[in-house]
Amino acid sequence: MRKVSIFGATGSIGQNTIDLIQRDPSAYDVVAITGGANIGQLAEDAKRLRADVAVTAFEDRLEDLRAALAGSGVQAAAGASALIEAGARPADWVMSAIVGSAGLAPGLAALEQGATLALANKETLVCAGQLVLETADKHGARLLPVDSEHSAVFQALVGEDMGAVERIIITASGGAFRDWPVARLAHATVEQASNHPNWDMGQRITIDSASMFNKALEVIETKEFFGIDPNRIEVVVHPESIVHALVGFRDGAVMAHLGAPDMRHAIGYALHWPERRDLPVPRLDLARLGQLRFSDPDPARYPALRLAREVMERGGLAGAVFNAAKERALDHFIGQRIGFLDMSDAVAAVLDRFEGADGLIDAPMTLDNVLKTDHLARQWVDEAVLKRAG
Ligand code: NAD
Ligand code: MG
Repeated sequence: MRKVSIFGATGSIGQNTIDLIQRDPSAYDVVAITGGANIGQLAEDAKRLRADVAVTAFEDRLEDLRAALAGSGVQAAAGASALIEAGARPADWVMSAIVGSAGLAPGLAALEQGATLALANKETLVCAGQLVLETADKHGARLLPVDSEHSAVFQALVGEDMGAVERIIITASGGAFRDWPVARLAHATVEQASNHPNWDMGQRITIDSASMFNKALEVIETKEFFGIDPNRIEVVVHPESIVHALVGFRDGAVMAHLGAPDMRHAIGYALHWPERRDLPVPRLDLARLGQLRFSDPDPARYPALRLAREVMERGGLAGAVFNAAKERALDHFIGQRIGFLDMSDAVAAVLDRFEGADGLIDAPMTLDNVLKTDHLARQWVDEAVLKRAG
């Protein structure tokens, strides 16, 4: 039996992961599952999966979780340090599907104990790419991509030499507002931004798809995961979300990965890797689809893409600043304190402020420095938002 843990089990990726695991329950021994405020879901899944421990991110929910698990034999735990402890519990395969930089420390703990880390949480590599890769290396742990684009690239590279790769092209659906006039974006509401045309995902990544902050994070994730020069990474808008990514080789050949937009493909590929097994995903019917369209992203509509380029050029802790500022700006957008376009303005302003603050971005990439930088970036977004309101 393979020992598995699922971080962010109550979310969209987590539930899809559980769906796959439950199709073959005798193959898996579930160690830890984690969630947030949805205690009912967390407890129910922990009991169903017979997990050793269930962890809620929120300390003040420990008693609720205990009560929900009473008599089940599943241990209850809560808080950030309990998440790290859960990551340190020996497991063969760990799904990293917490949303945001909160996923970083538990993921590092899993790598430190040598587990294979299936990485849906793109923030991990954006915030601390070098630290994460070095940690994996040091402990003989493996990272497998779960983000659909990165899984697609990973699959297109099977049997290939990175030295033969000329470019990586990741596709973007264009999100909820791809057909809106740019002038209307300033007035976009949270509800409108939370409606993805093709993918069914958590609210935060759905809004990030509308702004392309998601794609911006993914470009950085591509650079870190595949170790490719940022100038060789391209983004193309593809409204059908059927081609997930393409790899161009030095001989001009391009290998594309196609599939229905269902995350169980990428999750299942990482779960069964290096094998391919049957997966319950819809099959492609190209004739019914009729056409696949592609276009360049409009820089005026998606300023986040330009910011990602600046962040990659800057290096150091700029990724941690970028991600944290984005997360906090998104909190303010969801809280209706700022508008849709104010998010990229706030992130740009905080990146500038860090640039002016001597040495902060160039501090060594330790977990402690990443978390401090993350904290400060959020604080500076709050200050900028308060100043606007005042
Ligand atoms: P979601 O919002 O549906 O679920 C997030 C999970 O994280 C939940 O279990 C929640 O309880 C937990 N969580 C939230 N805040 C937390 C905190 N502070 N500490 C600990 N746990 C916390 O999100 P999702 O859509 O499943 O996305 C999860 C991750 O996977 C994100 O990094 C996202 O970018 C990435 N991803 C998602 C998809 C998708 O299809 N949903 C696709 C590609 C990548
Ligand atoms: Mg993706």
